Amino acid sequence: MRIFAIGRNYVDHIHELNNEKPDDPVVFTKPDTALVRNNAPFYLPSFSKDVHHEVEVVLKIGKEGKNIEEKFALKYIDSVGLGIDFTARDWQQKAKEKGLPWDIAKGFNGSAPVSDTFIPLANIPDLRNINFKLEVDGKLKQQGNTSLMIFSVEYIISYLSRFFTLKTGDLIFTGTPKGVGPVAIGNRLTAYLEDEKMLDFEVK
Ligand code: MG
Repeated sequence: MRIFAIGRNYVDHIHELNNEKPDDPVVFTKPDTALVRNNAPFYLPSFSKDVHHEVEVVLKIGKEGKNIEEKFALKYIDSVGLGIDFTARDWQQKAKEKGLPWDIAKGFNGSAPVSDTFIPLANIPDLRNINFKLEVDGKLKQQGNTSLMIFSVEYIISYLSRFFTLKTGDLIFTGTPKGVGPVAIGNRLTAYLEDEKMLDFEVK
């Protein structure tokens, strides 16, 4: 199982980090050791002083494929969940300045909590109109809608599959809307897809 992720896929988030709008999707991966399930706590790593939450819609691949055409992309998605793309922003900033990879900043242990619940694609009326949000200690921090993605879900599947064979069970983080910010020990993160609570865990 692999975890793919797309960076800079919402314009309002690009602006808050002073990034440029990309011509192609920004792709990175996280190792399977980043995955956290069952609302297990997120352990704040000691190597970073600025770990940010990024709530994202996560696609689960249901069928192996490569060189997938956009018009067939939905056939390769099994279901949709939510995840947090935890990012050591200080490490990412250093890497960006030097043009170095983001592996540590994005892929450290526990950096990818993912919901246990995944909603089958058949039960989602419109993939391009999903509301999602993140609360920290009950306060709204991030709110997004998939209609605001720069690169659509279909395009992401097609693009990734040009380079990587997508396999059953692979997860794809699709980018975060604005409102990213640091987490601290003791914070409780709750994330919702429409009205359904998908994630509810503590930072330790
Ligand atoms: Mg992200």
